[in-house]
Amino acid sequence: QVFRLEDYRPSDYLIPSTGLTFRLSPDETTVVAELTVERRNGVKGAPSLILDGDGLVLRRIEIDGKTLEPSAYQASADQLVIANPPASGRFKLLLETQIAPSKNEALMGLYRSNGVYCTQCEAEGFRRITYFLDRPDILSVYTVRVEARRDEAPLLLSNGNPIESGDLEDGWHYAVWHDPFPKPSYLFALVAGDLGRVGDSFVTASGRSVELGIYVEHGKERLATYAMDALKRSMRWDEEVFGCEYDLDVFNIVAVSDFNMGAMENKGLNIFNDKYVLADEETATDTDFANIEAIIAHEYFHNWTGNRITCRDWFQLCLKEGLTVFRDHEFSADQRSRAVKRIAEVRTLRAHQFPEDQGPLAHPVRPRRYREINNFYTATVYEKGSEVVRMIRTILGAKAFREGMDLYFERHDGDAATIEDFLKVFEDVSGQDLSQFALWYHQAGTPNVTVSGSHNAASGEFTLEIEQSVPPTPSESRKRLMHIPLAFGLVDPDGKDMAYADVEGADVADGVIHLRKRRHVVKFSGIAERPSVSLNRGFSAPITLSVAQSAEDRAFLARHDSDAFSRWQAFNTLLTETLITAFRSVLGGKAPDFSPELLKLAGTIATDETLEPAFRALALMLPGEADIAREIGNNIDPDALRAGREALTFAVAKTNREAFSALYASLNAARPFSPDAASAGKRALRNVLLDYLSALPGGVGLAGDHFAAATNMTDRAAALSVLAHRHRGSQQATDALASFEARYCKDALVMDKWFQIQASTPGAEAVDIVRSLMEHPAFSISNPNRVRSLIGTFASANQTGFHRADGAGYQLFVDTVLAVEKRNPQVAARLATALRSWRSLEPGRQAKAREALLTMSSTPNLSADLRDIIERTLA
Ligand code: ZN
Repeated sequence: QVFRLEDYRPSDYLIPSTGLTFRLSPDETTVVAELTVERRNGVKGAPSLILDGDGLVLRRIEIDGKTLEPSAYQASADQLVIANPPASGRFKLLLETQIAPSKNEALMGLYRSNGVYCTQCEAEGFRRITYFLDRPDILSVYTVRVEARRDEAPLLLSNGNPIESGDLEDGWHYAVWHDPFPKPSYLFALVAGDLGRVGDSFVTASGRSVELGIYVEHGKERLATYAMDALKRSMRWDEEVFGCEYDLDVFNIVAVSDFNMGAMENKGLNIFNDKYVLADEETATDTDFANIEAIIAHEYFHNWTGNRITCRDWFQLCLKEGLTVFRDHEFSADQRSRAVKRIAEVRTLRAHQFPEDQGPLAHPVRPRRYREINNFYTATVYEKGSEVVRMIRTILGAKAFREGMDLYFERHDGDAATIEDFLKVFEDVSGQDLSQFALWYHQAGTPNVTVSGSHNAASGEFTLEIEQSVPPTPSESRKRLMHIPLAFGLVDPDGKDMAYADVEGADVADGVIHLRKRRHVVKFSGIAERPSVSLNRGFSAPITLSVAQSAEDRAFLARHDSDAFSRWQAFNTLLTETLITAFRSVLGGKAPDFSPELLKLAGTIATDETLEPAFRALALMLPGEADIAREIGNNIDPDALRAGREALTFAVAKTNREAFSALYASLNAARPFSPDAASAGKRALRNVLLDYLSALPGGVGLAGDHFAAATNMTDRAAALSVLAHRHRGSQQATDALASFEARYCKDALVMDKWFQIQASTPGAEAVDIVRSLMEHPAFSISNPNRVRSLIGTFASANQTGFHRADGAGYQLFVDTVLAVEKRNPQVAARLATALRSWRSLEPGRQAKAREALLTMSSTPNLSADLRDIIERTLA
């Protein structure tokens, strides 16, 4: 079944209030739903009431207190139809269903994880609990009563505020929760179990006191202190930056160990993958700390962008996700280093969204059709969606953007809104016409902008010839011209931005060229000397750039651009171009050779004390095989990419050996440990240097020492990666893998890192490594985190292993995806996207990848989730 945006129609019926009573038991949970159903104003007659279900068993059905005759309704597992609802148009519908949380391996609806009952209802999981109008534009006030055995579940949580609790017979007890804010069913949540609690409180800007609770496995309370701190910082920040205040008496977060995604913003009761809550220096890396901070903030920020204002339908998913990602990006930028954060965001966007946008799974930020909505929780909706909001701010300026946001909250609080509603507030506050800009929501594909510059010394004119094009994507062969805000600078030989007397050929304001036509010839006058052009500063638009620019200009910008992002970009582009040349050399049977200037520039950047260590670390990270492959675009042989990249690593290390060693030694791990951004930046730089130095003779000893001396997980995991990847088989590597395993075998989240590091072992042997790790006692095919760390890493982050020339990587992959699919279609479908770039491989691998896709597509009884991905990937 295909769902289309243009088919949206408001529901004939509304459900203004919902009462739910759960009597919890692992295999036989009963759910009694008492719904107030109301015909929507203006609907004529008494049309049938059709409720969504998914795998439900109906036990009881009453309307206004009277049992319904079997002839009056039709109940299947997936639907409940009441053909002739009361003509009055307002009635009470009582439904009793029975479900088995312990058998729910799809982890949608109500399930049990480690003995804890929990729910995941977005997008369409609520219909696995009871029959309902399970669509986001049906807003209802929920009152939830949870009953359970006290010994099994002393803790009973749901959305909103607690209003009552007490004992029942036979060791049972109950709690009642009421959420005064009307909400869609996807935001419903329930948690029941035996968990430890970390408590705190927060006083909002207007003086309301909010009780905060984070619930984790007993004994792990200490590991939630960082998350709690991040939560309080998020709450304050949202008040200060967006004027958004929290609105209930309590705010709870629960960490569970089986979770399909990162976390979920259920009103007043966020549920998290425990990976994004639990952390201390011993078990979490600096990346983990940063992710926890970002995701805690993200889910909290949804309280306004997502919950108070929700989506009319799932086509509008980016309305809440793109916007909330933008908000969490800004939060992290304010808490940490803005420049470093921006570089990290762009790296993520290019690594995940660009291949999506440039391959068979491309779709607009606001899609127009879907078969399975779960497959649209994508980098395009989230990350590109955030970039689109960022461009609105760039175009309007920070002040008008904030006014637009204020108007959005004022105008749409309590609504299920659309992207058109969102754009309208910015048009209204600014008076600007955003209709061309709106194409960013409607049109898929990464625009390319080609630029060349020329200087006329005699006339003092500098000219930029700029052309945009948007490549065709599936089902969109012809693209319209976009409004692209291109931030730029004309950099003089001292590194300062030049002033110009006048400009013609495009709207240019506040350092931004607004491209609206296919081609602009932009002339700057009053430019005496030839500038170096810095383009797409701060990554002002999510595009690819083709700029005719000399290596000298790039190297100059890498050292002198006043925009930190562009400095990083200039050096990164130099590295990428170098690696593409190296790839061609390797394919031609020649040893790659490198420009001595470039090799030295790496040393200059590494030791430039005016730059933050975290920035230097990011600059020194060579583009990965997938990054280089994306730039080349076709006929990819990952082994040749890797050979070129290893050669460059070695050459950089050899050229800068002394400088790198001295710097490495000077960065000795600071004690006591602090997860703050500056300390993390020093660790990142030191660990990048380790990676280089370990490529030199004697490097294995250095890595072994680094591992042995590590006093935190960041350093330990970094050393383990270097040993396991570059020095596999050495005594140091073998010992380190064994000691890490012995030390952490009881800690599932740390074991994920152990699996992940080994799953990314480069080269042909990775297939056997992964196969044998699947037999490891700590591996479990039903736990999403384990599957992602071993299989997800192998398929998405190990180019040479996964794309092994003989196809053995694909075989392992097909077997596993199909095994996962039987339990959890959503996780399987996500894994399967790893093959989306198969058409860019060289012909031999391409044929084998296609075979793998065909094997999956011809498997009988494929889930809608997996079938959708496979078919689009093959199309
Ligand atoms: Zn979200």
